[in-house]
Amino acid sequence: MNYYYLVERDKLQLSWAVTLLRKPLPKRTRSPALPPVLYRFLGPVTEGEMALKSEYAGVACKTCGRCDDDAIFDMGFCDPVTIRFKYDFGYTDDRVFAISQKLLNVLCEARVRGFETKPLGSSGWHAMRVTDRVDCDEKVMELIGPFCSECGRADRIPGAFTKLDQVALPSHSNAIFTTKKGWAKPFRDRDTFLTEDVVKLLKNAGIRGGWCNRLWTREEVCMMDEMAKRGKKWKPPGSIVTL
Ligand SMILES: [Zn+2]
Repeated sequence: MNYYYLVERDKLQLSWAVTLLRKPLPKRTRSPALPPVLYRFLGPVTEGEMALKSEYAGVACKTCGRCDDDAIFDMGFCDPVTIRFKYDFGYTDDRVFAISQKLLNVLCEARVRGFETKPLGSSGWHAMRVTDRVDCDEKVMELIGPFCSECGRADRIPGAFTKLDQVALPSHSNAIFTTKKGWAKPFRDRDTFLTEDVVKLLKNAGIRGGWCNRLWTREEVCMMDEMAKRGKKWKPPGSIVTL
């Protein structure tokens, strides 16, 4: 069995679920001289001043304003919610993992394990929380200060799980899973991992919106290190499934 982590596509437009657009900026028009690819590179433009909806104030750090994804999910999601994803999944710009009705149907019909969802207001989209959680090598994430004086969250947290031996694996197939420990990364607290049968399920169902990257085996990591020593770039073949 192979295991993968989910990577979402870059977005051209902002989406939000737990914040409000408090002060919209005057509409900016795209310059016809700039090709669309440049916007993809620059990321979505800001649309104005965003503020956390008042009902979530109690779970936000009073000093840095950040919140745990779990605490937000526990509270649920009311209108207004703005989701503008082109495909079936992605993170909103306020850190909510959103999936389409189509993706939810595919997962439920196949009885995929390890997640729960809540409706994102009346948007027709659903927030997903991964509930099947495993131990991991916590040193993979580097904590770089300054640290918030109240909640202790780090300013930056570089690092990524890319290797099989960095996470404990679930005992069953047909599963979505994540780490017990979470980090206050810019778009999420936790990564989403999938067993190979779920990756095939999504691919066959025509689900789109990103990539599933296979976690590398120890042998592949050794090979990559070996090639790097010889000044060659090498990645294990067939380790990316495009959705
Ligand atoms: Zn804080």
